[in-house]
Amino acid sequence: MKLPDNFRKWPTERRQAWWSKNFHDDDDERAASLTNPAALELADLMVESAVGSLGLPLGLAGGFLIDGCDYSLPLAVEEPSVIAAAAYAARIIASGGGFSTTVGPSVMEGYVYLEQVDEAGASRLAGGYEALRRSLKSTLAGLERRGGGLCGLRQYRLQDSGVLALELAIDVVDAMGANIVNSAAEALRPLAETLSGGRALLCILSNATPQRRAQAAFRLPLAKLYPYCRGLDAADVARRIVLATVVADEDPARAVTHNKGVMNGIAALAQATLNDTRAVEAAAHAWAARSGRLRSLTAYRVETDCLCGSIDLPLALATVGGSVDLHPTGRACLRLLGNPDSRQLSRLAAALGLAQNFAALLALVSGGIQGGHMRLHAARLAYKAGARGELTRRIADRLAARGEFSLRAAAEELAALRDAAAAGAGSSA
Ligand code: NAD
Repeated sequence: MKLPDNFRKWPTERRQAWWSKNFHDDDDERAASLTNPAALELADLMVESAVGSLGLPLGLAGGFLIDGCDYSLPLAVEEPSVIAAAAYAARIIASGGGFSTTVGPSVMEGYVYLEQVDEAGASRLAGGYEALRRSLKSTLAGLERRGGGLCGLRQYRLQDSGVLALELAIDVVDAMGANIVNSAAEALRPLAETLSGGRALLCILSNATPQRRAQAAFRLPLAKLYPYCRGLDAADVARRIVLATVVADEDPARAVTHNKGVMNGIAALAQATLNDTRAVEAAAHAWAARSGRLRSLTAYRVETDCLCGSIDLPLALATVGGSVDLHPTGRACLRLLGNPDSRQLSRLAAALGLAQNFAALLALVSGGIQGGHMRLHAARLAYKAGARGELTRRIADRLAARGEFSLRAAAEELAALRDAAAAGAGSSA
């Protein structure tokens, strides 16, 4: 549909009223859409043409033991199994001693792509790095005060286009760094053009962030794994987890889903802390494909009666800037985590990604995931069929008992419960 003229310039309340009147079917829907004046004011600050806020569920995945400390991780996500799976895996891994993590520097790369640069121009540019550094002084002064700043300049020629890429690496400390890196790349443009004799095509950060990585690992004795193996042999379950990861490394068709599972929790943590989820996802998937083939983000091996899991991936997670320290929910989530800096948040995210992957693999190799998923899905079917309040859970239980998870079955159960309630009311009247 075409928006009314000047829609983006309307007062927010008018846009919201227009949205609500035209697109919510009834008051029930309107109430569930969670739009209040404070949320609307924030939404209007955050995006253009805001009409409301989408209230994603925010839940806490408890039980994480990371580098010897207990954490509950805030996750904002629409998929029912994500928090349950993360907390389940966290509990199992904690029983073996928890996660250990490491993290790299918060270095982001930005680029000035220059066209029409001949070899002499490329040499002049390479000889001008000191002047280029000096030209960034004022742009990066704030970051330098915080311990960050420029950490490197280099250039390379793109073979197909002939474009010359001037790369600047910047330690952005606790920010995601998109704006500061873009500003620095643009600040370099005039001098880069003068030195090279070329013309800037693009000045832009890269979301690849191969230096800004975090790692997590765990070591789980098979005896601690056994209670979660549904009666199967723990050594065989561990062997199958290792083999499933080899399959993900070998077959991109599996790797894409394997890594999607890794990102289930990480994207939800990024969402809860109002980080840029698209940037986090793009970096992780690009890293997984760095060999030219999409591979697993995680690795497993069995060593002296222990299952050992590990993960290594780029994580440009901020604890300041953007929407992170703007949104009250993001701030509350960071408080729950003990107000971590960016690198600490990335350590937690790496552990979470590994936990999520371990939970999925454990279920997949020991009987499948659908049983658990469909039980969680049942309450949603009940809601969609029209159940509310206590009825929703009762219908979900009845669907699970029937082993039938469909909207039709949910509607039948709702009708049956309502008939029973009406008959009960009739007989007591
Ligand atoms: P930002 O522009 O808010 O800058 C960070 C701010 O935090 C700066 O003003 C800095 O001075 C301040 N700051 C305070 N304490 C700091 C500390 N300890 N470390 C570092 N900075 C500190 O945010 P940003 O991180 O530059 O950019 C993030 C935003 O840019 C996100 O909203 C993102 O979605 C958006 N963005 C992303 C892309 C992309 O990913 N390709 C492109 C453009 C914009």
